Amino acid sequence: MAAPDTATAPRAIHRLDYRPPAFLVDSADLHFDLDPAATVVRSTLVLRRNPKAEDRHAPLRLDGEGLTLLGIKVDGVPFPKTHYTLGEDGSLTVPNPSDILVLETEVRIAPEENTAFSGLYTSGGNFYTQCEAEGFRRITFFPDRPDVMTRFTVAITADKARYPVLLSNGNPAGAGDGEGGKHWAKWEDPHPKPSYLFALVAGDLVAVSDYFTTKSGRDVVLNIWVRAGDEDKCAYAMDSLKRSMKWDEEVYGFEYDLDVFNIAAVSDFNMGAMENKGLNVFNTKFVLAKPDTATDGDYQGVETVIAHEYFHNWTGNRVTCRDWFQLSLKEGLTVFRDQQFSGDQGSRAVKRIRDVRGLRAAQFPEDAGPMAHPVRPDSYIEIDNFYTPTVYQKGAEVVRLLHTRIGAQAFRRGMDLYVERHDNSAATIEDFRAAMQDASGVDLSAFAKWYEQAGTPEVTAEGEYDEAARRYTLTLRQKTPPTPGQPEKRPLPIPVAMGLLDAGTGREQPTRLQGENEARTGTRTLMLEDAEARFVFEDVPAPPVPSLLRGFSAPVKLKGLPLDQLRTLAARDTDPFTRWDSGQQYAAAVMLGMVAAHRRGEPPGFDPALAEAVRANLAGADADPAFAAEALPLPGEGFLADQMDLADPEAIHLVRRHLRRRIGAECADALRETYERLADTGPYSPDGASIGRRSLRNACLAYLAAAGEDGMRLARAQFDAAANMTDVLAALSLLAESEEHGPAALAAFHARWRGDELVVDKWFSIQAMSAQAGTAARVRELQRHPDFSLRNPNRVRSLLGAFASGNPYRFHNRSGEGYALLADAVIALDPINASTAARLVGPLGLWRRQAPPLSGMMRRELERVLAAPNLSKGTYEKASKGLA
Ligand code: ZN
Repeated sequence: MAAPDTATAPRAIHRLDYRPPAFLVDSADLHFDLDPAATVVRSTLVLRRNPKAEDRHAPLRLDGEGLTLLGIKVDGVPFPKTHYTLGEDGSLTVPNPSDILVLETEVRIAPEENTAFSGLYTSGGNFYTQCEAEGFRRITFFPDRPDVMTRFTVAITADKARYPVLLSNGNPAGAGDGEGGKHWAKWEDPHPKPSYLFALVAGDLVAVSDYFTTKSGRDVVLNIWVRAGDEDKCAYAMDSLKRSMKWDEEVYGFEYDLDVFNIAAVSDFNMGAMENKGLNVFNTKFVLAKPDTATDGDYQGVETVIAHEYFHNWTGNRVTCRDWFQLSLKEGLTVFRDQQFSGDQGSRAVKRIRDVRGLRAAQFPEDAGPMAHPVRPDSYIEIDNFYTPTVYQKGAEVVRLLHTRIGAQAFRRGMDLYVERHDNSAATIEDFRAAMQDASGVDLSAFAKWYEQAGTPEVTAEGEYDEAARRYTLTLRQKTPPTPGQPEKRPLPIPVAMGLLDAGTGREQPTRLQGENEARTGTRTLMLEDAEARFVFEDVPAPPVPSLLRGFSAPVKLKGLPLDQLRTLAARDTDPFTRWDSGQQYAAAVMLGMVAAHRRGEPPGFDPALAEAVRANLAGADADPAFAAEALPLPGEGFLADQMDLADPEAIHLVRRHLRRRIGAECADALRETYERLADTGPYSPDGASIGRRSLRNACLAYLAAAGEDGMRLARAQFDAAANMTDVLAALSLLAESEEHGPAALAAFHARWRGDELVVDKWFSIQAMSAQAGTAARVRELQRHPDFSLRNPNRVRSLLGAFASGNPYRFHNRSGEGYALLADAVIALDPINASTAARLVGPLGLWRRQAPPLSGMMRRELERVLAAPNLSKGTYEKASKGLA
């Protein structure tokens, strides 16, 4: 099957084609007359030719999509049809505009028919918007690009009984009753902003309210708007918001700049949340939490996303992006900031471990696949496809590199300078780097390559000890594999935070590099700037073990450390990240050996060091249960697959299952002892220490359940007795693997929680991630369950996303039925919600990572998707790049 011919294939947008806008919009006055079937939007734009535009005679072009134009005036006079054109793409062009004009348009839209959840849509009878990246053009005609920043006023009229609450950006500026049971409200946003930050929320909502006093003494009203009945699930979101506001003042000096901060929660949402100025809109998943319905992971998600969106107020809103290629300017930086914040709330080390685990699980595979792109991409077909782990998480790692390179104080000065230079304007990644460089006096030009070059660099280390000279030479080499469109890679500046341990005693040694006068204690950072660099350490009394990439000082793959060194590091390193990582790398190496043996048809064998490590970990767990909980589980199936030339999901799963059973049996006493010792966790609290104890206890339970029926009975008892969702769900996920216990436990869970949509999502996910043989068939069947709907993105992700991305063993079932059901779902979803469909198709694009016949079956399903009629741009881009 061939791709559609190039004449009809969607066109790519290129970064180097950026041109300043022809017109600026000084002010936008919007009026909404809300109706689900026919909302009328009247807009008055004060437009002015951009003095910085290249072409001083360019036409005025306004984006539009699916708008029904009811009327148009220029400077107060009806504008004749001969003076403008409506393009096939929905845009409006005025070929000969004057240099200053007032343009009034009146359009009609149908929010209730908007199943894409981009623009103005309805959900549960209420109105919500999502405008990033290009949704505003589905609301009214506008230059819908982030470098056009405008002062907005918004008036909303709607039926008072059905839509008692009327919200938009900025500060409230009046409200009153109108005719025919209608009422109105007016909002004024004093800060100029791009259209993607526009928001409107209206409906039957209730507020949970509080306030925050800023550092300069202003009281800000905080409201979280939810459906009636959800008020008791907002406390943690509110608490996280207040802590975020305080933290941003203390760490960056950023103060909130409006009188009110509104958050609205909605069940139908394509992403996590959106930072609209003064009116954040959130997926309910990242607002609503109470102990009996939300897990520890959910609580952490709420804290992180609340912080992330709040932090955008300065990094994203006050200073925004010039164009969408600069997306990481706001996203990478804001993820870095929310990671810093969450680290400061609890254990920095544990937070770092979790973030790196996430990066490796999502970003590394992306960087090695057909959608690999630089943190600052060079082209896209559908910008929606570039809200990726690379732009967000790798982008945050690159900001961290700059932070590491220049230090916290210079970084803070750099942020001040960045905001001073670019406040109320649209900036580029280069502008950010220049501010950091100017504030620190450090030449950061080489770091630009981290934004330009895709792929995960591989770093190898080789040590040589010269006993006579008491000298240790460390050679570091780097290499980045080719990615689509970038066959040749240049070396990147890689900070390698490191130390040396004495191989015999495991103690940390002071280090003195050749040429230095004094030895240093503790971690130091080596800069690997070329393809290869040698570092010579003097006065090294005995052969050392190098501890490298402490704290994960760069987003690279460190390869080839010998097993005995990994064991020493896992037991003794002073850096918690390297200690954790070395344990994981050791286990991974052993497991990959077992996978190879399994493929040769040999018996699996067992490395007793793995059981020893578990016992040692449990023995020392009291010092830091949260760390112990991270170190206890074996590396995940995806992490192992990524280290093979070609993945073998089945062999990996069987080896991992075998090992879990064996370790569970060998360490049963210690596991049971820890499990029981941590039994009394008291009333639920989502603080780091309590989460750590629950995680550790549930990690013990998982091993015990893997070992056999005794453990399964423990899980059943925990499922029946637990009062918080963390413990209930941990038990349920184990029971679901058992033919004996699974069906009854799942039925009981559904019966108990059928009225809570976020909990029902969990019920779908657990079944989708089961290793049981019938899982693919079960996922098919569950799509016909009355609670399933392709129209709700959370539901789609919880069933189909969880299956395709969270269950490699059953997704890559030899029958191919996993691939076929995913392709069927993508084809059915694409006309309803293209953005969610394009995300869902991703796993099929990774077919080159599988061996035949799996790879061929995946490819054919991808071809079937690509051949579907009227495919959206986004799904087309993912499928065609997957096949290229
Ligand atoms: Zn963001």
